[in-house]
Amino acid sequence: RSFAESGLPAQVLDCCKNFTKPSPIQAHSWPFLLDGRDFIGIAATGSGKTLAFGVPALMHILKKDNKKTSKKAVPRCLVLSPTRELAQQIADVLSDAGSPCGIKSVCLYGGTSKGPQISALKSGVDIVIGTPGRLKDLTEAGICSLKEVSFVVLDEADRMLDMGFEPEVRSILSQTSSVRQMVMFSATWPLAVHQLAQEFMDPEPVKV
Ligand code: AMP
Repeated sequence: RSFAESGLPAQVLDCCKNFTKPSPIQAHSWPFLLDGRDFIGIAATGSGKTLAFGVPALMHILKKDNKKTSKKAVPRCLVLSPTRELAQQIADVLSDAGSPCGIKSVCLYGGTSKGPQISALKSGVDIVIGTPGRLKDLTEAGICSLKEVSFVVLDEADRMLDMGFEPEVRSILSQTSSVRQMVMFSATWPLAVHQLAQEFMDPEPVKV
Protein backbone atom coordinates (compact mmCIF):
# COMPACT_ATOMS: atom_id res chain seq x y z
CA ARG A 1 0.00 0.00 0.00
CA SER A 2 1.25 3.45 -0.90
CA PHE A 3 0.43 6.96 0.31
CA ALA A 4 -1.05 7.74 -3.11
CA GLU A 5 -3.51 4.84 -2.75
CA SER A 6 -4.74 6.25 0.55
CA GLY A 7 -6.44 9.03 -1.42
CA LEU A 8 -5.59 11.55 1.31
CA PRO A 9 -5.12 15.23 0.39
CA ALA A 10 -1.56 16.49 -0.04
CA GLN A 11 -1.75 18.88 2.92
CA VAL A 12 -2.61 15.97 5.23
CA LEU A 13 0.13 13.74 3.79
CA ASP A 14 2.76 16.45 4.18
CA CYS A 15 3.70 14.91 7.56
CA CYS A 16 4.62 11.67 5.76
CA LYS A 17 6.83 13.22 3.10
CA ASN A 18 9.96 11.62 4.57
CA PHE A 19 8.45 8.13 4.65
CA THR A 20 8.29 5.69 1.74
CA LYS A 21 5.03 3.97 2.65
CA PRO A 22 2.48 3.76 5.47
CA SER A 23 3.66 1.59 8.37
CA PRO A 24 1.65 -1.64 8.91
CA ILE A 25 -0.46 -0.11 11.72
CA GLN A 26 -1.18 2.94 9.54
CA ALA A 27 -2.11 0.78 6.52
CA HIS A 28 -4.46 -1.25 8.75
CA SER A 29 -6.04 1.61 10.66
CA TRP A 30 -6.51 4.42 8.12
CA PRO A 31 -9.24 2.81 5.99
CA PHE A 32 -11.38 2.02 9.06
CA LEU A 33 -10.75 5.28 10.85
CA LEU A 34 -11.45 7.34 7.72
CA ASP A 35 -14.68 5.38 7.45
CA GLY A 36 -15.71 6.54 10.93
CA ARG A 37 -15.34 3.18 12.70
CA ASP A 38 -14.34 2.76 16.34
CA PHE A 39 -10.96 1.11 16.51
CA ILE A 40 -8.86 -0.89 18.97
CA GLY A 41 -5.20 -1.25 18.12
CA ILE A 42 -2.74 -3.44 19.95
CA ALA A 43 0.50 -1.83 18.86
CA ALA A 44 3.85 -1.01 20.43
CA THR A 45 5.49 2.41 20.56
CA GLY A 46 7.70 2.91 17.53
CA SER A 47 5.16 1.34 15.15
CA GLY A 48 4.03 4.69 13.79
CA LYS A 49 0.85 4.67 15.85
CA THR A 50 0.83 8.43 16.43
CA LEU A 51 0.12 9.07 12.75
CA ALA A 52 -2.09 5.96 12.64
CA PHE A 53 -4.61 7.99 14.65
CA GLY A 54 -3.16 11.46 13.88
CA VAL A 55 -3.84 11.47 10.13
CA PRO A 56 -7.50 10.37 10.60
CA ALA A 57 -7.84 13.00 13.35
CA LEU A 58 -6.78 15.71 10.88
CA MET A 59 -9.23 14.35 8.31
CA HIS A 60 -12.00 14.28 10.92
CA ILE A 61 -11.51 17.99 11.58
CA LEU A 62 -11.23 18.90 7.89
CA LYS A 63 -14.45 17.02 7.09
CA LYS A 64 -16.48 18.91 9.67
CA ASP A 65 -18.54 21.77 8.27
CA ASN A 66 -16.85 24.30 10.44
CA LYS A 67 -13.22 24.01 9.32
CA LYS A 68 -11.99 27.10 11.07
CA THR A 69 -10.20 26.65 14.38
CA SER A 70 -12.61 27.47 17.19
CA LYS A 71 -11.73 30.77 18.78
CA LYS A 72 -12.71 29.33 22.13
CA ALA A 73 -11.29 26.43 24.13
CA VAL A 74 -13.64 23.98 22.39
CA PRO A 75 -11.54 21.25 20.72
CA ARG A 76 -13.00 18.68 18.34
CA CYS A 77 -10.37 15.99 18.87
CA LEU A 78 -8.97 14.69 22.13
CA VAL A 79 -5.97 12.43 22.78
CA LEU A 80 -5.53 11.08 26.31
CA SER A 81 -2.09 9.89 27.29
CA PRO A 82 -0.80 8.45 30.59
CA THR A 83 2.34 10.59 30.94
CA ARG A 84 3.52 14.10 30.28
CA GLU A 85 6.45 12.86 28.15
CA LEU A 86 4.21 10.82 25.88
CA ALA A 87 1.66 13.63 25.66
CA GLN A 88 4.37 16.04 24.58
CA GLN A 89 5.73 13.64 21.96
CA ILE A 90 2.25 13.21 20.51
CA ALA A 91 1.61 16.96 20.61
CA ASP A 92 4.86 17.65 18.74
CA VAL A 93 3.92 15.21 15.99
CA LEU A 94 0.35 16.50 15.71
CA SER A 95 1.39 20.17 15.75
CA ASP A 96 3.74 19.56 12.83
CA ALA A 97 1.25 17.37 10.99
CA GLY A 98 -1.59 19.86 11.47
CA SER A 99 0.24 23.03 10.54
CA PRO A 100 -0.09 22.70 6.72
CA CYS A 101 -3.86 22.28 7.30
CA GLY A 102 -4.17 25.15 9.78
CA ILE A 103 -5.05 22.69 12.56
CA LYS A 104 -3.95 23.69 16.06
CA SER A 105 -2.92 21.35 18.87
CA VAL A 106 -2.50 22.16 22.55
CA CYS A 107 -0.84 19.92 25.15
CA LEU A 108 -2.16 19.84 28.75
CA TYR A 109 -0.29 18.09 31.56
CA GLY A 110 0.22 18.47 35.29
CA GLY A 111 3.26 19.36 37.34
CA THR A 112 3.53 22.80 35.80
CA SER A 113 1.61 26.06 36.02
CA LYS A 114 -1.72 26.25 34.27
CA GLY A 115 -1.34 29.80 32.93
CA PRO A 116 0.42 29.11 29.62
CA GLN A 117 -1.84 26.12 28.92
CA ILE A 118 -4.93 28.25 29.55
CA SER A 119 -3.66 31.01 27.23
CA ALA A 120 -2.90 28.46 24.51
CA LEU A 121 -6.41 26.99 24.87
CA LYS A 122 -8.08 30.38 24.74
CA SER A 123 -6.28 31.38 21.56
CA GLY A 124 -8.16 28.55 19.81
CA VAL A 125 -7.65 24.83 19.53
CA ASP A 126 -8.67 21.87 17.35
CA ILE A 127 -6.85 19.01 19.06
CA VAL A 128 -6.16 18.67 22.78
CA ILE A 129 -3.53 16.18 23.90
CA GLY A 130 -3.59 15.71 27.64
CA THR A 131 -2.92 13.68 30.72
CA PRO A 132 -6.10 12.76 32.62
CA GLY A 133 -5.53 14.74 35.84
CA ARG A 134 -4.79 18.14 34.36
CA LEU A 135 -7.42 17.76 31.70
CA LYS A 136 -10.08 16.95 34.29
CA ASP A 137 -8.98 20.00 36.34
CA LEU A 138 -9.30 22.34 33.38
CA THR A 139 -12.66 20.97 32.29
CA GLU A 140 -14.09 21.15 35.81
CA ALA A 141 -12.86 24.73 36.10
CA GLY A 142 -14.86 25.49 32.95
CA ILE A 143 -11.75 26.47 31.02
CA CYS A 144 -11.91 23.74 28.39
CA SER A 145 -15.18 22.31 27.08
CA LEU A 146 -15.24 18.78 25.66
CA LYS A 147 -18.81 18.91 24.39
CA GLU A 148 -17.73 19.26 20.75
CA VAL A 149 -15.16 16.46 20.96
CA SER A 150 -16.23 13.88 18.39
CA PHE A 151 -12.92 12.03 17.87
CA VAL A 152 -11.28 10.55 20.97
CA VAL A 153 -8.04 8.61 21.29
CA LEU A 154 -7.00 6.71 24.40
CA ASP A 155 -3.32 6.02 23.99
CA GLU A 156 -1.66 3.34 26.16
CA ALA A 157 -5.05 2.62 27.72
CA ASP A 158 -3.71 -0.24 29.85
CA ARG A 159 -0.99 1.96 31.34
CA MET A 160 -3.46 4.78 31.96
CA LEU A 161 -5.68 2.45 34.02
CA ASP A 162 -2.68 0.85 35.78
CA MET A 163 -1.67 4.32 36.93
CA GLY A 164 -5.07 4.73 38.59
CA PHE A 165 -6.55 7.20 36.11
CA GLU A 166 -9.77 5.26 35.52
CA PRO A 167 -12.06 7.73 37.36
CA GLU A 168 -10.59 10.68 35.44
CA VAL A 169 -10.76 8.82 32.13
CA ARG A 170 -14.43 7.94 32.71
CA SER A 171 -15.30 11.47 33.76
CA ILE A 172 -13.53 12.93 30.71
CA LEU A 173 -15.12 10.48 28.26
CA SER A 174 -18.59 11.22 29.56
CA GLN A 175 -18.08 14.93 28.87
CA THR A 176 -17.37 14.33 25.16
CA SER A 177 -20.06 14.34 22.46
CA SER A 178 -22.34 11.30 22.48
CA VAL A 179 -21.79 11.14 18.72
CA ARG A 180 -18.12 10.36 18.72
CA GLN A 181 -15.58 8.11 17.10
CA MET A 182 -13.27 6.34 19.52
CA VAL A 183 -9.80 4.92 19.08
CA MET A 184 -8.01 2.92 21.73
CA PHE A 185 -4.41 1.78 21.70
CA SER A 186 -3.18 -0.62 24.33
CA ALA A 187 -0.16 -2.91 24.65
CA THR A 188 -2.19 -5.51 26.59
CA TRP A 189 -5.90 -6.32 26.91
CA PRO A 190 -6.80 -6.68 30.61
CA LEU A 191 -10.39 -6.84 31.87
CA ALA A 192 -10.48 -3.18 32.98
CA VAL A 193 -9.56 -2.00 29.47
CA HIS A 194 -12.04 -4.42 27.92
CA GLN A 195 -14.81 -3.08 30.17
CA LEU A 196 -13.97 0.52 29.34
CA ALA A 197 -14.15 -0.32 25.63
CA GLN A 198 -17.50 -2.07 26.10
CA GLU A 199 -18.92 0.89 27.92
CA PHE A 200 -17.69 3.72 25.72
CA MET A 201 -17.20 2.24 22.26
CA ASP A 202 -19.40 0.79 19.53
CA PRO A 203 -20.42 -2.80 20.25
CA GLU A 204 -18.40 -3.92 17.23
CA PRO A 205 -15.15 -1.96 17.08
CA VAL A 206 -12.48 -2.95 14.57
CA LYS A 207 -9.63 -4.79 16.33
CA VAL A 208 -6.15 -4.84 14.83
P1 AMP B 1 5.38 6.32 16.87
O1 AMP B 1 5.10 4.85 17.02
O2 AMP B 1 4.19 7.07 16.42
O3 AMP B 1 6.03 6.91 18.07
O4 AMP B 1 6.43 6.50 15.64
C1 AMP B 1 7.73 5.97 15.72
C2 AMP B 1 8.64 6.55 14.63
O5 AMP B 1 8.24 6.10 13.34
C3 AMP B 1 8.65 8.06 14.56
O6 AMP B 1 9.98 8.52 14.51
C4 AMP B 1 7.95 8.38 13.26
O7 AMP B 1 8.43 9.57 12.67
C5 AMP B 1 8.23 7.18 12.41
N1 AMP B 1 7.21 6.89 11.39
C6 AMP B 1 5.88 7.15 11.46
N2 AMP B 1 5.26 6.73 10.33
C7 AMP B 1 6.21 6.20 9.53
C8 AMP B 1 6.19 5.58 8.21
N3 AMP B 1 5.07 5.46 7.51
N4 AMP B 1 7.37 5.16 7.69
C9 AMP B 1 8.52 5.28 8.41
N5 AMP B 1 8.60 5.84 9.65
C10 AMP B 1 7.48 6.28 10.21
